[in-house]
Amino acid sequence: MHVFSDPKELTDCQGGVFVPTMGALHDGHLALIRHAANLNQGPVIVSIFVNPTQFAPDEDFAQYPRDLDSDLEKVKHAGSQFVFTPSVETIYPLGEQSPAPPLPGVATNPGLEDAYRPGHLQGVCQVVARFFDLVNPAKAIFGEKDYQQLLVIKAMVKQEGDRWGDLEIIGHETIRESDSLALSSRNAYLSDEDRNRALGISKAFHGISTQLSVDECEQSMRRILEDHHFETEYAVVRDAQTLNIVTTFDKPTRALIAARLGSTRLIDNLAIPARLT
Ligand code: AMP
Repeated sequence: MHVFSDPKELTDCQGGVFVPTMGALHDGHLALIRHAANLNQGPVIVSIFVNPTQFAPDEDFAQYPRDLDSDLEKVKHAGSQFVFTPSVETIYPLGEQSPAPPLPGVATNPGLEDAYRPGHLQGVCQVVARFFDLVNPAKAIFGEKDYQQLLVIKAMVKQEGDRWGDLEIIGHETIRESDSLALSSRNAYLSDEDRNRALGISKAFHGISTQLSVDECEQSMRRILEDHHFETEYAVVRDAQTLNIVTTFDKPTRALIAARLGSTRLIDNLAIPARLT
């Protein structure tokens, strides 16, 4: 496995399958990398870069877990041939104000990420666009764990036309602990007590029934989260493609939660098939 930070070395892995990460790798990331390797469609390239522009000044950029040696060991076993670990200067040669693509509409849907982390998805588009320019992949894999992010990246690629050729964005299902908690680098921040409370998220999803109204489902999710001491940012059901507000379960929808336990922010989502009757 080749580990490098000089973008000149990217010439060896153009046109491959790309898995961007911020490191602190867990089995969720590794599932994406394994999936990339199993596609058997050229070299697999993983990037490890904690992107400053997607963190607000009061967020955990400085504390974000970083352990490159352990990450490299894990990536090696998951089947990646290349690991790109660029510096901030390589990604942002013009500084952090470097140009970013316009934010697709699905990023600014009211009441979701943009409402609670203004600038976050703009920072994600900025860094992902820069990586796509440098890496020039044929495919890139993103987790459904960050569902709105996945839709935003897909919309950005569409919006940018042929900037990245026929680049295909592949979504990968969320990998969970045996008790259903979605794997996240931020789970490491949870105390034992909060780790227990975090199960409130899967319990909230469990309470959803398409026999109830959307409004009742949203209220039920909030109630369950509050019972588990969460401070809820959003607990909503939205159109699965556009993230627009819905009032019925007639089309495929997605339940989306962002909630805090103390200073730890957790997000998760659940696919809800359209109600048949
Ligand atoms: P991050 O390092 O948090 O930026 O995540 C890198 C990629 O891994 C993103 O595409 C995430 O959506 C994805 N990811 C993070 N956690 C999970 C998970 N539990 N299951 C599947 N994919 C994940």
